[in-house]
Amino acid sequence: MRFPFALTKKIASHIIRHKLRKTPRFAMVLQLEPLHTCNLTCTGCGRIREYSTSLKDMVPLEQCLEAAIECDAPMVSICGGEPLIYPKIEELVNGLLAQKRVIYICTNGVFMRKKMRDYLAAIYSPAVEPKLEKLLDRKLISDKDAETIRKSDDAAGKKVVIRPTQWMYWNVHVDGLEFTHDLIVEREGVFKECVEAIKMAKILGFQVATNTTVYRETDVAEIEDMFKFLSSLEVDGHTISPGYDYDAAKKDMVKRLGRDPKEFFLTRDMTRQKFAKIQDWGRAFTIFGTPVYQEFLAGKRELTCTAWAIPTFNIKGWKAPCYLMTDGHYGGYQEMLAKVQWEKYGVVNGVARDPRCEHCMVHCGYDPSGALGTNYQRGDNWKNFKYNFGAKPKPFPASPELAKRAYNGVTIGKGHLAEAKAAINSPAAGARGAFSRKEEEHGRNGNGQPAHVGTFCGDGGGSGRDDLPAKIGDAKKSG
Ligand code: SF4
Ligand code: SF4
Repeated sequence: MRFPFALTKKIASHIIRHKLRKTPRFAMVLQLEPLHTCNLTCTGCGRIREYSTSLKDMVPLEQCLEAAIECDAPMVSICGGEPLIYPKIEELVNGLLAQKRVIYICTNGVFMRKKMRDYLAAIYSPAVEPKLEKLLDRKLISDKDAETIRKSDDAAGKKVVIRPTQWMYWNVHVDGLEFTHDLIVEREGVFKECVEAIKMAKILGFQVATNTTVYRETDVAEIEDMFKFLSSLEVDGHTISPGYDYDAAKKDMVKRLGRDPKEFFLTRDMTRQKFAKIQDWGRAFTIFGTPVYQEFLAGKRELTCTAWAIPTFNIKGWKAPCYLMTDGHYGGYQEMLAKVQWEKYGVVNGVARDPRCEHCMVHCGYDPSGALGTNYQRGDNWKNFKYNFGAKPKPFPASPELAKRAYNGVTIGKGHLAEAKAAINSPAAGARGAFSRKEEEHGRNGNGQPAHVGTFCGDGGGSGRDDLPAKIGDAKKSG
């Protein structure tokens, strides 16, 4: 089976139960943001900007658990900020597991190995030695780490930890191969750390997924290489979604610069071009997301947004209308369902009900539409069934060539970030900087780049992505 049977059964029963009850709107995945603090400052992160005044605030554990009970989504994606910074993350994961939910911990990967060392210390006995030896052999832990784990005392044994279970996935943010990913997260070494964390997790029996956002500048061939590489690491599944262009930047571009936004934004047409091969990817790799959503991304059909099925809960309450756009926060999920005028949002038959939705095709708005039978076409149920119950694609064979293509940045001495940052942050250049000016020389805008916003941690209205296309382009040229 492509996905674990127990998980598929749980989600299918949830949908069937609500369909039988004729519930008009219900939650499929809760996007739970216990905090917005992060150890990284990725280019264009919407979360650390939109919630910049409440970065130090956290949702109390009890409230997080109550939110999950209230919306009763079978799946909870714990995101943020960086959720592994949340002081009660272990209690949160265990509390949600006790509620029998499927958990995705959406992480930038930097603290994953630390959490897994805590797990090893908590379960340490001589029986763990073969795994420790394997981790040492592959340099995924140090000798000092191994000694600390071996010296585990009663306190370490009693610590609440995150343990492997079929009900939980580490969901690691990976936006490209080493060069691109480190550039986007603005820190060299993060890609390598993510890969080591994934390797360690697989040795310890955790399930691992990855999430990737595709931008206008994303090189499709690189995405294919990334899937091959991640598949060779035996990653269990991948979420991929187009970046989202929000309306304010577009208006600014037309009004102030008199430029056509289509020159710069990932429009619906461009998304369809980028995702033209998504169905091939779905056959070759374990792509999460229904085949119906994949057809939508490939431009083969229309879907209607069902943002209410993936609600977001954070320090300000239930965020509406969706993970990306904020028109308000509500005190309860049911209150949000009742008060938001859902018919004002989304795109229906190619016509945007709200101009801000015009080019949105993101996973959190449209993937549930595929599962819920919105815009149902004959044969959809069979397609979804066949995809879920079909054979899991085999891991892509690992090879030195593939690894060489993956480690194409700082690992091979191509340190690029300092120069890129210095140029962008140059006081003389203002907010944009030298890289953007170079773009202008190449016939692109120097002051009105789009605000690409991804669909996972940190998304939702950032403007710093404005610099990203230029930054990647120029850094690659100089690399
Ligand atoms: S179409 Fe996109 S931006 Fe608009 S409400 Fe749906 S998810 Fe949000
Ligand atoms: S995108 Fe995610 S990892 Fe990056 S700064 Fe934002 S919350 Fe942190």
